[in-house]
Amino acid sequence: MILEYLKRSTNVLLASHKNPDGDAVGSSLALGLALKSLGKTVTVYNESRLPAVFRYLPEVELLTQTPGCIDDYDTAVILDCGDLSRIGNLHKSIENIHILLNIDHHQTNTRFGKARLIKPEACSTSEIIHDLIMDLGAEITTDIAFAIYTGIVSDTGSFRFSNTTRKSFEICADMVEKGANPYIVAQNIYSPYSLGRIKLLNMVLESIEVSKNGKLSLMSLTQRMLRETGTNAEDVNGLVNYAKHIEDVRVAAFIQEAETQAREQIKEDETLYYVSLRSDGTIDVSSFAASFGGGGHSTAAGFTTLSSFSALKDNIMRLADAL
Ligand code: 5GP
Ligand code: MN
Repeated sequence: MILEYLKRSTNVLLASHKNPDGDAVGSSLALGLALKSLGKTVTVYNESRLPAVFRYLPEVELLTQTPGCIDDYDTAVILDCGDLSRIGNLHKSIENIHILLNIDHHQTNTRFGKARLIKPEACSTSEIIHDLIMDLGAEITTDIAFAIYTGIVSDTGSFRFSNTTRKSFEICADMVEKGANPYIVAQNIYSPYSLGRIKLLNMVLESIEVSKNGKLSLMSLTQRMLRETGTNAEDVNGLVNYAKHIEDVRVAAFIQEAETQAREQIKEDETLYYVSLRSDGTIDVSSFAASFGGGGHSTAAGFTTLSSFSALKDNIMRLADAL
């Protein structure tokens, strides 16, 4: 079904979630390049600026923050988004694009769109895109291989997370065969931290609290920390792993004060927070996230909520009782 829609498409908008990770960037760039090679007009959109760590990707200039006139597209492909609103502010107009396709690997996917390709067993959306490009009969060029390799390495935490399978290795081996250079990818996505990011890390580590039973850790970040260290949203990527790294901890939560415009501040004692959750598999954090309107995978999930800090912290700390 998806294959037929893609073959028939002429002017395609690809979009992935804002604050993109390697899988969002890799899967959308790979599919964008493949569709272009098949003669389609392609725009690869993301609401956020491309994180500096992904600038090494060949043909990355294809990614844009300005999608042009939404009415001109006959097809939209939404990648790596558990629900449509994950793409950001434009989701309401993008929803009206005639053929809306949903390609994702989150188990909490809301199944939006005219046709779907949702595989929770896939380690990444990039894995799904790899298979789709083969099915489309497009060539996996070196540029595409770099994008797919980056997506898989990012979402499997370099083959360390529980979503890593034989297939993850097989595709990556093939991508290396096609020219992706693992050393270049690793050098970039695990590049040295700026001094500001090290100082930010110091601050968030200072904030760590552990539940009484020692099984849940909670770390927090404020906008003030970003200002004081001269860092920004992309410097926050991956910091949650430090909270997860503590001995005996089974679930880690990272509460981040979101950047908001003044008009979004509703009540004085409430702030908009984004919460990242990580689990060792003991409990499914995606269902907890879903109860706050978010989602994700059983071992990595997130949600956005308007709350006071102490109420949010109490809510999350209660999770420790189930551990
Ligand atoms: P992270 O903590 O890395 O931002 O997100 C962890 C996982 O949860 C990712 O796979 C991400 O796509 C998913 N996720 C984070 N926030 C949300 C959300 O608000 N809604 C949904 N459906 N998934 C989310
Ligand atoms: Mn992903």
